[in-house]
Amino acid sequence: MQIPIYEPWITELEENYAIDAIKSHWIGFQNGKYIADFEKEFAEYVGVKHCITTNTGTAACHLALKSLGIGPGDEVIVPALTFVATINAVSYTGAKPIIVDVDERTWNLDCHKLVDVLTPRTKAIFCVHLYGNPCDIDFLKTFCDKHNLYFIEDACEAISSTWRGKKLGSFGDVSAFSYYGNKLIVAGEGGSVVTNNNKWRDVAVSLRGQGQSFERYFHDIIGYNYRLNNISAAIVLAQLRRIKEILKEKARVYETYRNELSSNKNIKWQLVEMDKAHIIGKNQAYSCNWIINILVEDRDKIFEALKKNDIDYRPIFYPLCDLPPYKDQKNMPIARKIHEHGVSLPSYPTLSDEQIKMICRIINENT
Ligand SMILES: *Cc1c(COP(=O)(O)O)cnc(C)c1O
Repeated sequence: MQIPIYEPWITELEENYAIDAIKSHWIGFQNGKYIADFEKEFAEYVGVKHCITTNTGTAACHLALKSLGIGPGDEVIVPALTFVATINAVSYTGAKPIIVDVDERTWNLDCHKLVDVLTPRTKAIFCVHLYGNPCDIDFLKTFCDKHNLYFIEDACEAISSTWRGKKLGSFGDVSAFSYYGNKLIVAGEGGSVVTNNNKWRDVAVSLRGQGQSFERYFHDIIGYNYRLNNISAAIVLAQLRRIKEILKEKARVYETYRNELSSNKNIKWQLVEMDKAHIIGKNQAYSCNWIINILVEDRDKIFEALKKNDIDYRPIFYPLCDLPPYKDQKNMPIARKIHEHGVSLPSYPTLSDEQIKMICRIINENT
């Protein structure tokens, strides 16, 4: 593919840190200086007390649930539209995921449908900020407090997105991030959980390292090996230190798409919650626009035209209830509609204005 859907932006800084990690000979977790530095700086960036790195974002989702003690007999609410890792992590714990349909405008959890699925077994809401777009945090936090539920954010796609000026991931009791090779900042494979709570931090650290207690080789619970390695940590630390530059280019890419497609009335966009806040002159929610998406009448026509021009694209996620392991769940008509009409577009920071204009010309000619 001439233009991929995503491409990490790696510079000399990432190279130098990675080589430095190799030269130190500490390339695993043990004595991983870059792991400790990253955990400290990422916690500061998000505005939380603790960051615990993991080897994948999926592991982070799993640890977030496990550190809160979620397991068999519990129910966890997840949105119908997300990458499958969110719901799989719930399944790993033995808890039952309960899928709720999404809002037609934001493509995130439809808050009005939550009350219908509450049972005495409901333990948590695992919200997902889809493609970086913030969920309605005000509503979800209040709802969780009122019904005595844990609030967990899957912020894997929402690094740097904000709600009322605070970073996403800082609102959850525990929240999960991913640094997979096509996320906003990358480690190759990697992730983290963040929390302000010391006890949950301790449980997450223990579960990450085979359930070892504070005594060497004494394992008081069954844990996992979810450790990050020092080379990946070096790369993602360099990325974090360059995040302003990355976000600046991401914003340019988004603005260019919006401009080039502004006169096309046959396209619908994923709306940012509180866009209505524009009315009072202050946009209080911000999406990092990890992936830029459009809804069109005939998605396949666009797919074909892009393919012919060597441009990569993705469909929007399948509604989780359409996947074989989750067939027992209710139908999710809104999520399915978004899936059937959605196109994910190349969204990486080094995509040039000329490339975006070419993509938009193809979209305009085919809608
Ligand atoms: C990327 C992602 C994850 C974690 O994926 P990994 O590939 O394991 O890092 C989890 N949830 C969502 C919504 C994601 O996009």
